[in-house]
Amino acid sequence: MFDIETSKGWPMPVLDDLNRPLFEGMAEGKVMVQRCDDCETWLAPSAFICEACGSDKVPWVEVSGKGELYTFVVYHRAYDPLFESMVPYNVALIELEEGPRLLANVVGIENKDLKIGMALKPVFQKVADELQILRYEPA
Ligand SMILES: [Zn+2]
Repeated sequence: MFDIETSKGWPMPVLDDLNRPLFEGMAEGKVMVQRCDDCETWLAPSAFICEACGSDKVPWVEVSGKGELYTFVVYHRAYDPLFESMVPYNVALIELEEGPRLLANVVGIENKDLKIGMALKPVFQKVADELQILRYEPA
């Protein structure tokens, strides 16, 4: 997980050498994930080493970002006041066409209409002056 600071009420990531490519990619409208240079295993962000072979060569690479809904939950209670206006909101696990899975919200659709396996495409939304995040919408 990322360290969090709060700016204007929105939790802000603390950028470091490990996670910077992820957030800079989102700011530029790119979906970035990590892949092991030695065994080509896709890794969930942000990995120091490859979970399959232990290699420390785990660069960030840009992917299409297209994928499908692997699973999701719908939050009906806000565990932080920041999110009260968003309830009910979903948190989804999206399986990218390249293979890795990412957590994100699916927007542009009612929660009741979410279906496992539905095609999704990335969309980038600015949630604070200095933060644009990756979300998904139906493809
Ligand atoms: Zn590896």
